[in-house]
Amino acid sequence: MVKENDYFRSGGLSMKQKSAEILAIGTELLMGNTVNTNAAYIARGLAQNGVNVYHQEVVGDNPQRLLDSLTRAFSRSDIVITTGGLGPTYDDLSKETIASYFGRKLVLDKESLQHIEEHFRAIGRPMSDNNRKQAMMPEGCTIFPNPNGTAPGCAIEQDGKVAFMLPGPPREMKPMFEHYVLPYLMKDSDTVLVSKMIHLFGIGESLLEHRLHDLMVSSTNPTLAPYAKSGEVMLRVTARVARGENPDPILQPVIEKVREMAGEFIYGIDVGDLQTAAVRRLAEKGLRVATAESCTGGYVSKRITEVDGASAVFDCGVCSYANEIKEKVLGVSHETLEKYGAVSPETAKEMAAGIRRLSGAEIGVSTTGIAGPGGGTEEKPVGLVYVAVDSDAFCQVLELHIPSRGDDAREYIRYIASSHALHLVWKAAGMAK
Ligand code: ATP
Ligand code: MG
Repeated sequence: MVKENDYFRSGGLSMKQKSAEILAIGTELLMGNTVNTNAAYIARGLAQNGVNVYHQEVVGDNPQRLLDSLTRAFSRSDIVITTGGLGPTYDDLSKETIASYFGRKLVLDKESLQHIEEHFRAIGRPMSDNNRKQAMMPEGCTIFPNPNGTAPGCAIEQDGKVAFMLPGPPREMKPMFEHYVLPYLMKDSDTVLVSKMIHLFGIGESLLEHRLHDLMVSSTNPTLAPYAKSGEVMLRVTARVARGENPDPILQPVIEKVREMAGEFIYGIDVGDLQTAAVRRLAEKGLRVATAESCTGGYVSKRITEVDGASAVFDCGVCSYANEIKEKVLGVSHETLEKYGAVSPETAKEMAAGIRRLSGAEIGVSTTGIAGPGGGTEEKPVGLVYVAVDSDAFCQVLELHIPSRGDDAREYIRYIASSHALHLVWKAAGMAK
């Protein structure tokens, strides 16, 4: 899908034709106690910047096995990025081992030591000799400061190979990767990759690929790559431009073509997510929303309130799980509940209208459905959800049949239902005067 080689065909990147490997170090990763999110994060960052990654590995805190992994990685790749094992404890052996691979000694780095001393002064705790070890860095390396912890990271470069050593904790690793590793990799390059993310909702990845197939195959600069994530699809448009050049003349025509072919599914460009798009649009129009949730149990309001600035657009949410509350608080009629049941388009509609009445918001949105795993019937199976929106310019009830397979089916159904609700809010806000 991602046409890796197109980035490099006409050259430009300093790391062109080079590939990187990610080596996550830590016995807790092998034991399954920690999920290797670092590798996913780094891999995404490298892909976005046009660096190929063909291998990833996890190795425990064992010097010999680490050395084996490193040797293997460098036999295939020019860049190896490690995370973990930079800490002060006896099992943190990355630096020693990697330095020895390059035949280098560890020497004291005064600045790093100062930083560590300051850190301990600031938290009012004594510094141990072990912490001093964190300031011992491979001879001749480039040091990356760590404002979020004690262990600095570093890069060792030799004979066209470069090893990056980053700390294990994600909150320390991520900024170091962004601020030091990526610029290091791109430093000699006279071209840069600039991308925009097109966010789509309501179309599957395969259908989107089918629709855009010709455009994706024929686009080399910019490239077009689809990504699917929990019921949504994103299209990354990436242009290769000279440093300082405006990328818009390359990006915009392809974005326009995507709009022509799948515009009805696009809810934003570089907007982040559905809740952000919805909140922004409500704010732009000076509108407010209120939620009435049954099967999503507050998921919709949680996602709305995740967005900075939600207080200007969010009125209230009622988690009306019991029929009695649907009736008493939201004013869903007794007859509707009796005749059609709580999981029905009629109830969804009355819930959305009810919360609007109750709150005075311009837009009301509701969810009611069967999240499972129990409670489904032949007529109303698990995964059946109704989502309704009520506003002056736009009212709609959606009937969803959300697939309910796997251990996390309940969570998935609730999440997807909340996404549809947010999308309806976004739509309703767009149609409001
Ligand atoms: P510290 O100074 O905290 O010891 P370190 O660089 O030595 O940092 P590790 O000891 O290997 O790193 O890991 C510290 C913590 O960082 C782990 O307990 C885990 O929570 C997190 N961590 C380590 N590696 C990863 C990874 N690959 N993905 C996600 N989290 C990780
Ligand atoms: Mg450690």
